[in-house]
Amino acid sequence: MKTTIIGFPRIGEQRELKFATEKYFRNEWTAAELEDFAKELRKKHWQLVKASGVEEIPSNDFSFYDTTLDTACLLNIIPQEVAELNLTEREKYFALARGYQGEKGDIKARPMKKWFNTNYHYIVPKFEQTTKISVTGTKIFDEYYEAKALGIETRPVILGPFTLIQLSEFETGTDRGTIISDLTNAYQEIIQRLESLGVKWVQLDEPGLVKDLTPEELAEFKTLYQALLVNKEIKVLLQTYFGDIRDAYETVIDLPFAGIGLDFVEGRKTLELVKQGFPAEKELFAGVVNGKNIWRNHYQATIDLLQEINPAKLVLTTSCSLLHVPFTTANEIFAPEINQHFAFAKEKLAELVDLASILAGDEAQLAANQALFAQPRFNENQAIQAKVAALTAKDYLREPVFEERESLQRAAFQFPLLPTTTIGSFPQTREVKQTRAKYKRHEISEAQYDAFIAQQIDDWLKWQTEIGLDVLVHGEFERNDMVEYFGQNLSGYLFSKNGWVQSYGTRCVKPPIIWGDIAREQAITVKWSTYAQQQTKKIVKGMLTGPVTILNWSFPREDISLKASTLQIALAIQEEVLDLEKNGIRVIQIDEAALREKLPLRKSDWYTEYLDWAIPAFRLVHSKVQPTTQIHTHMCYSEFTDIIPAIDQMDADVISFEASRSNLAILDELKRQHFKTAVGPGVYDIHSPRIPAVAEIKQTIEKILAKVPLEKVWINPDCGLKTRGIPETTKSLSHMTEAVKQVRKEL
Ligand code: GLN
Ligand code: ZN
Repeated sequence: MKTTIIGFPRIGEQRELKFATEKYFRNEWTAAELEDFAKELRKKHWQLVKASGVEEIPSNDFSFYDTTLDTACLLNIIPQEVAELNLTEREKYFALARGYQGEKGDIKARPMKKWFNTNYHYIVPKFEQTTKISVTGTKIFDEYYEAKALGIETRPVILGPFTLIQLSEFETGTDRGTIISDLTNAYQEIIQRLESLGVKWVQLDEPGLVKDLTPEELAEFKTLYQALLVNKEIKVLLQTYFGDIRDAYETVIDLPFAGIGLDFVEGRKTLELVKQGFPAEKELFAGVVNGKNIWRNHYQATIDLLQEINPAKLVLTTSCSLLHVPFTTANEIFAPEINQHFAFAKEKLAELVDLASILAGDEAQLAANQALFAQPRFNENQAIQAKVAALTAKDYLREPVFEERESLQRAAFQFPLLPTTTIGSFPQTREVKQTRAKYKRHEISEAQYDAFIAQQIDDWLKWQTEIGLDVLVHGEFERNDMVEYFGQNLSGYLFSKNGWVQSYGTRCVKPPIIWGDIAREQAITVKWSTYAQQQTKKIVKGMLTGPVTILNWSFPREDISLKASTLQIALAIQEEVLDLEKNGIRVIQIDEAALREKLPLRKSDWYTEYLDWAIPAFRLVHSKVQPTTQIHTHMCYSEFTDIIPAIDQMDADVISFEASRSNLAILDELKRQHFKTAVGPGVYDIHSPRIPAVAEIKQTIEKILAKVPLEKVWINPDCGLKTRGIPETTKSLSHMTEAVKQVRKEL
């Protein structure tokens, strides 16, 4: 029984690659120093995988920033504006990822998008009319050699052409047919060269196959691969992940792949497909160890599954690259009885080896694992389980209906036309972060810490009043992170010390772990929200994170459904909402920044698998408030054109969303679909330090007013301001309120 993995986390056990790369960014290291460091890191990782007993080891899964970007560079898909700069290859690479501003030029970064249904991001490749596809990169060949020199035979990995095309942007005037034939030639050349180097297996990643595919797309896939699978010696592994390939399965098994990698964890239909028949001459790379979550594998269930499919040639692997889980549990300080339930990347290698030995008859491993799963789960909370079980349709309904609330609220609040507000956070300066850290380390007392936060709130309330904002915020200075802060005040959550996962480039996130049933232990935001409200006659908005976002940015349980966990969280946040209301908070914003992000990859699953419980979970949170308590929500992306009715069904009174970078295209759709919720499309981009001029914001407001009824419009920036500096924040926001003043006058 062979074992392998699809890819390994490149960031390093202690995020070494992050820190090394950032040294290079700060010019403290030369490119050569960075390359040497990376070489050592790759060596360490290959040797670690080898030592674990996993036999087939991938290469070229390493990346300085992103593997899609690596593929673009390998194929010379480099936009002209970067290609023509007098930069080294390494500088060009990082220029595409992060932009370049220096003596050799000034260019923006390429756009970045979420990688399928993960929190990893890829850099969007762009085909231009001037693009000359050719194999100019050498990374994939170099890394194969590098491993070989260490005595390790590897399987080079590359993003396949089908998915590459799906993810790319095409300049108008480019010809898709030509691009496809050029890509085919280039991939042929890569495979040819790998073959002549003596490579035995090459892995082509095609996660794009797990989406709903049109017959045209399927035909395109077939054409591409018919042309690629012509070599005699080298074996090609078609690797898929993040779901099943129901649309492409027939096509895939008919093509001369030597191996096919299928996801048995997220792919709901994978088992059914394989049972219909899997060619005996091909190797089935069965993704049975979850590459996305951090729980131990249930060996008996996996063995049962494997016995059910019983293919002629089986290779055990992970469901996707281990890039999406933290490195190892070895550096955590969880109690052993807790730690034993976790498997991060390194521990998953051991699981693959265990599974292989169990299949070969090792009873002891199986018994130990059975004992682990037989233990009762800690943190059961029967009261909360009962509460969820007792929920009825009425609990998800807010009364009276939207239109009635709208007029009641209009009378109650008397906001001016185009009310202005912000999304919640103000700049988290070094001073703010350090003070929080000192408090955490007990270097300052609670009283000192509280005085500091209160002072921040006072200052910013005063300033917000001065520039004439209508609905104020307290600024979120007490929060490190919009999910962790809530998790820390809920029972049922655990926090790793070192559980970092790459999000993009050198940025990593540390998702909290949902360990048990979730319940609200104590009030979470009431203290600072009420403090802020008591300091001013103006309305101060309460600020909460919604249940779907809390869930989506955590490692979820596997023993109960996502829906069940989300409803528990929703009940906890509902208590917080009612507590805020009781304490005089009249406007409450419940952020659902990550709601759009976990939409299933298949459109056909959107409602049944996700929205049908996610949207009600949000409604549950605010269903019990008074008609005159105004509920706001916020979403980070405006890419919800295709789920507008679902967003309206959240039944919030106001929604703010990021809009400035998407040229407000969403507004036409809102109008067409009679969107009822009042809207605050962001009037300026907060992701850059650039300060928008008054006239520019005014123009944006006028564009909004051309499409949305005046009485439905709120004015706010795109998102929270915690990553921005103070000078640009104060200037931008005062330009915003000034622009509104001018527009109001003209109205
Ligand atoms: N209220 C949060 C903030 O302002 C929202 C952040 C977000 O949408 N990601 O920081
Ligand atoms: Zn946002």
